[in-house]
Amino acid sequence: MLPRAADIVIIGAGAIGASIAYHLARRGARDVVVLEREMVGAGSTSKAAGGIRVQFGTRVEIEFSLRSIEFFKRFQDEMGVPCDYRQEGYLILLSDEADLARFRRQAALQQSLGADVRILSPDDARAIVPELNVDDVLAAAWGPMDGHASPNDVVQAYAARARERGVRILEGTAATAIELEGDRVTAVRTPEGRIETPLVVNAAGPQAPLIARMVGLEVPVDPRRRHIFVTDEFPGVRHPMPLVIDRKSGFYCRSEQRQVLMSAGDVGATTEFSAAVDWSMLGETVDKAVRRIPALEAARVRHAWAGLRPLTPDEHAILDWAPGLRGLYLAIGFCGHGFQHSPATGQVVAELLTGTPPSIDVADLAITRFQ
Ligand SMILES: Cc1cc2nc3c(=O)[nH]c(=O)nc-3n(C[C@H](O)[C@H](O)[C@H](O)COP(=O)(O)OP(=O)(O)OC[C@H]3O[C@@H](n4cnc5c(N)ncnc54)[C@H](O)[C@@H]3O)c2cc1C
Repeated sequence: MLPRAADIVIIGAGAIGASIAYHLARRGARDVVVLEREMVGAGSTSKAAGGIRVQFGTRVEIEFSLRSIEFFKRFQDEMGVPCDYRQEGYLILLSDEADLARFRRQAALQQSLGADVRILSPDDARAIVPELNVDDVLAAAWGPMDGHASPNDVVQAYAARARERGVRILEGTAATAIELEGDRVTAVRTPEGRIETPLVVNAAGPQAPLIARMVGLEVPVDPRRRHIFVTDEFPGVRHPMPLVIDRKSGFYCRSEQRQVLMSAGDVGATTEFSAAVDWSMLGETVDKAVRRIPALEAARVRHAWAGLRPLTPDEHAILDWAPGLRGLYLAIGFCGHGFQHSPATGQVVAELLTGTPPSIDVADLAITRFQ
């Protein structure tokens, strides 16, 4: 049943919204409602490849990664269930001098913040993934702390532990309007009725622009489609193969148990928020795969999915209060890293919303950088 009022209403129960709800509950906030138009995790979170890396180019994102990796390491103890977290590494292949210089600078920043990242020779890269074609590779950035986990296990655990602490997560319940009195948020409307609240969090992932427009706000979030293809069990590469990113083509792949998960790294056109598989992407994916790992020619693709990545113009998220309004917080635009940064995001946003200075400075993620 829809409550009449709540202290905080979160719109969206993906990794971001569910993590904020969990961390709010941990901080003692009980009167929290999460509205989810479908089911917990049904949006982009269920389409994510589960990758978790420390190899980012900005201080705030590296700090988010380190904080989140600590969480994934203790996940089972804290959340009571496993999430298939594996630190199998990210190996990023660099074929361009300017790109290599950039990755050297980033690695120095990552190391200065405590991350283990190394720049390797092509031969050293092949020692990690023997099947690689490194003819045109200058060097590789190797992150042994990097890895992956199951997005569905993680988001379901956030929701379950939040519910145990009193958070109400209403599935099949869409937010249809946000009511204002002057510049102040006063309520959220749904088809089942309205919930009075002074504080709304927009955590609607690719649909965040639609939520923002409910109060006349344009946010620079542009959902783009990306595909993942998964092969049959494939013994032609050494497992576990870390996540290999070919910077030249955008292709990436890694072991999924004894299968190979791969993506052309496509940035499809903005869609009408639908993410159907476009099978014509398979040819491009296979071409890129075979050029980098010739052995993959013998692999058979078993299935595929596509999802939306909520991109911002600079590919960094937005964590900020909505400008010109009181009571609307934006946790949006997480591009291709919303799953992995959900632990730190949940913690930091919960701190902010409960009046505690954030334990990671998120000023660089302010929406004003686009104005
Ligand atoms: C193919 C692919 C691979 C990816 N790989 C990775 C990866 O390896 N690592 C990584 O970290 N990230 C990855 N991502 C990105 C990641 O999926 C997103 O950044 C992340 O899931 C965003 O989480 P979110 O909670 O913001 O959005 P979502 O998971 O989309 O959650 C938003 C929720 O809001 C709900 N909603 C929308 N409108 C309303 C409304 N009006 N009322 C109520 N509810 C509403 C939706 O139903 C949805 O459940 C990948 C994405 C794709 C598509």
